[in-house]
Amino acid sequence: MSFEKLNLIEPLLRALKAEGYTTPTPIQEQSIPISLERRDLLACAQTGTGKTAAFTLPILQLLHQDELFVKGPAGIKALILTPTRELAIQIGESIAAYGKYLRIRHTVIFGGVPQRSQTDALRAGVEILVATPGRLLDLMDQRFVKLQNLKVLVLDEADRMLDMGFIHDVKKVIAKVPTQRQTLFFSATMPPEIAKLADTILTNPQRVEV
Ligand code: AMP
Repeated sequence: MSFEKLNLIEPLLRALKAEGYTTPTPIQEQSIPISLERRDLLACAQTGTGKTAAFTLPILQLLHQDELFVKGPAGIKALILTPTRELAIQIGESIAAYGKYLRIRHTVIFGGVPQRSQTDALRAGVEILVATPGRLLDLMDQRFVKLQNLKVLVLDEADRMLDMGFIHDVKKVIAKVPTQRQTLFFSATMPPEIAKLADTILTNPQRVEV
């Protein structure tokens, strides 16, 4: 299996080559086609499986295609919720690496630091936002983040967000985003509370387990 066979566009293939990736990992092979079809996804995958590329590559491709063919309203089109600052930064770096031949902007927001540089980046405009739940809600309340044009929502490490006590914040965010959207749900484990959350926020999801 190759990345070409996954129908990824040439600017992404070029970036993957530059990263030294030759073969998709199992989670990428199974989930990328589902995400490119704009279907909802429920994926059971641990860290280290290549899950970050599994959700960032289709998002970059879908947004690039939107820009070329649909040209929707401006604003944040994809939101990636993740539990920690470290993961948020790592996802941001992956988006920068895989998207380096595309004109799609992103930024990363997380708590524990002054908000100023984050709000400056938001004001300049981004298509992809990577966020930890608490800081996101805070900046949404202050109207620095508007999600009315959101098309894709990603929950990364959903079980860890539950363990860290963020599930209430996650639910509050989800209540404020459009219901007409694509949702990609990633979790290493599926305890009952996570399965229930997945059930309430996904529409007819395809399941992938690695
Ligand atoms: P993740 O599970 O997303 O944290 O990724 C784990 C590591 O695997 C990261 O350092 C990625 O850069 C790397 N990686 C992801 N996909 C591939 C791939 N298809 N080929 C080689 N390395 C990869």
